[in-house]
Amino acid sequence: MNEQCDMLVLSYKEYREHDALICGLSEQGKINLIARGANKGNSKNAGAIQPYSLARILYNAHEQRSLYTLKTAQGLKSRRHLREHLLLSAIASLICEIVVSQTMDEGSEYFKIVDTCLDALEKGTQPYGVLCLFLALHLRMQGIYPEVEGCVRCGSREHIQGISICDGGFVCHSCYRCEDDRKRTKEQLKKFRLINHAAIEHLSIIDDSASWDYEDADILLSLLSEYGNAALKSAVFLKNISKFTY
Ligand SMILES: [Zn+2]
Repeated sequence: MNEQCDMLVLSYKEYREHDALICGLSEQGKINLIARGANKGNSKNAGAIQPYSLARILYNAHEQRSLYTLKTAQGLKSRRHLREHLLLSAIASLICEIVVSQTMDEGSEYFKIVDTCLDALEKGTQPYGVLCLFLALHLRMQGIYPEVEGCVRCGSREHIQGISICDGGFVCHSCYRCEDDRKRTKEQLKKFRLINHAAIEHLSIIDDSASWDYEDADILLSLLSEYGNAALKSAVFLKNISKFTY
């Protein structure tokens, strides 16, 4: 029996001589596909199933298997620009890698979030703003809520001076430990609070309200590595190129 769905391509790997293995995300969750002949020059499907694209696919869902066979793919959003731009590609790749490594029962929330983030990256929204919002939403969906109303150690709302990764939130002047905590400016703390309150619908507010950089994303990535995903290849790559771009 063939089934149809709209799928975001999270990863694309060449497989054997002419095939490709694809991990995709639909509203129903993640799906693993083999695309036979996708690496042949005359493949009809290849253009629609490149990384970060959105495709309407038909696949063979005959049996309860973990790997399905792709029948046809029709491109809905190509997002070619993301694959051609180093920083955008690095950020899109990191978002996709996080979702690939995630076990999830239901994909609908992630589907909407990832689709919106990839659209925003392509439309020229600040790339690190998009990444920060994705990371903050992902942390929240993992049940990780950084403390951004007061000091995570003593509860004080006065003289907030930095962020603790190990305790997960703001730290005040008295509780600040220079060997463990990250010192942040008032402006950086304000951004951190904003991003941890934002929903996906607030992307344009995030974009307009501040200037976002790698340092903002690095705090959220550190929280993620402290509490969740340990080794993300794309995170290492992004850190390396962040020194050279923007
Ligand atoms: Zn304190």
